[in-house]
Amino acid sequence: MDDNFLLHTKTAQELYHHYAKHQPIIDYHCHLPQAQIASNHQFENLTQIWLYGDHYKWRAMRTNGVDESYITGNKSDFEKFEQWAKTVPYTLRNPLYHWTHLELQRYFDVHEVLNEKSAAKIYEECTAKVRTHDYSVRNLLRKMKVSLICTTDDPADDLLHHIQLKKEGFEIPILPAFRPDNAMNVDNIGNFNQYVLRIEKASNISVSSFADYLKALKSRHDFFAQVGCSVSDHGLEEMYAEDFTDQEIVSIFDKIRVGGDVSLEQKRKFKSAMLEQFAIWDWEKGWTQQYHLGAIRNNNLRMMRNLGPDTGWDSIGDFQQAKALAKFLGKLDADNKLAKTILYNLNPADNEAFATMIGNFNDGSSAGKIQWGSAWWFLDQKDGMTKQMNTLSNMGLLSKFIGMLTDSRSFLSYPRHEYFRRLLCSLLGEEIENGELPHDIEWTGKIVSDICFNNAQQYFGWKEILKVKA
Ligand SMILES: [Zn+2]
Repeated sequence: MDDNFLLHTKTAQELYHHYAKHQPIIDYHCHLPQAQIASNHQFENLTQIWLYGDHYKWRAMRTNGVDESYITGNKSDFEKFEQWAKTVPYTLRNPLYHWTHLELQRYFDVHEVLNEKSAAKIYEECTAKVRTHDYSVRNLLRKMKVSLICTTDDPADDLLHHIQLKKEGFEIPILPAFRPDNAMNVDNIGNFNQYVLRIEKASNISVSSFADYLKALKSRHDFFAQVGCSVSDHGLEEMYAEDFTDQEIVSIFDKIRVGGDVSLEQKRKFKSAMLEQFAIWDWEKGWTQQYHLGAIRNNNLRMMRNLGPDTGWDSIGDFQQAKALAKFLGKLDADNKLAKTILYNLNPADNEAFATMIGNFNDGSSAGKIQWGSAWWFLDQKDGMTKQMNTLSNMGLLSKFIGMLTDSRSFLSYPRHEYFRRLLCSLLGEEIENGELPHDIEWTGKIVSDICFNNAQQYFGWKEILKVKA
């Protein structure tokens, strides 16, 4: 993992070092905690900044036979780190192995392999650094040339941290993203009704009908826009595009509100109606809507009970996506109300379906209006990203791709952009040297810079607000 890691040809090296490496990062979808950015949080040790909340690592540790007390339990931070260090050599060929060492190199200038033997020394060295001002959360973002971040926020969130950061003039825009999953999730009627209370409180609008509910949610959508939001996001098992009438939705909502029995079909109709409404609001404001499709979550009931969601018990689902996606996007498009859209699939079997779906709605009104998002979560690795870029090349235009995002909860995961950029340059470099592409470094370099930075900047319309320049 030296300077030319993953860059197997001279041309790939040239493309990476001249056109990719120095580009700033636009992280248009992630799960970083904005509270820690607002307080410019300083972590106490390497475990806290690196292992807390990282369910990718937790999953690997469990698979390696590490007891839960060393993962989410009450062992000391060093004991937890030691178990992670013992696990790392066994993660070979998992993306964690590359990520771990890239993160040690880029943030801490540590070039050793992490294992049981090096654990104590690396922990001590990195913890000492973590405690210095250079490793405050904001300085970590600066170090990685992050130029903009979109967090992930519930419509009921007050966005106080975003407002504070904007007021303070922190040079990296930290923008909210509108993620209304809870606002349409009627799988658990009790939870949904609790959520309506939260929306009432946040919007200061009392909800006694479906019309009130929409009014309250719309006021949150408007509020998010005022705070600088211009993207929405949805995390769904599958797209919902059932036929419904307004009257049907009104009566389903009324039934839900009194805790009545609602059929699976009615729930799907309700979700379909909500998705369409959100999409229309996004279009009205010129936002970009994102759909993360295909995860099957909280599959281990025992661990869900003990630890709650997002702790490493999710996997790839095998839902049918194409027909409902086509119907949903098609209906919006027919009314000329289809916003810029990014589709992400978690099941790699859907790659070709998604790569071709976007072409159905790219109508020339703007370049790459409908995007197939970068390989995500279980696919965010060498093979997954390479396949996504190859399929996009074969069935769409790689050159108009808005590229990588972290989708991460960790301040140390920005080298994933580097990983992506190296793979991109490796693909192009190899084909130039094979004679499949012309030896035009300037042109190919421009495409590389576009995919790393320029395309996203233009797509989201963020040229004005970006202060970290290419
Ligand atoms: Zn996400």
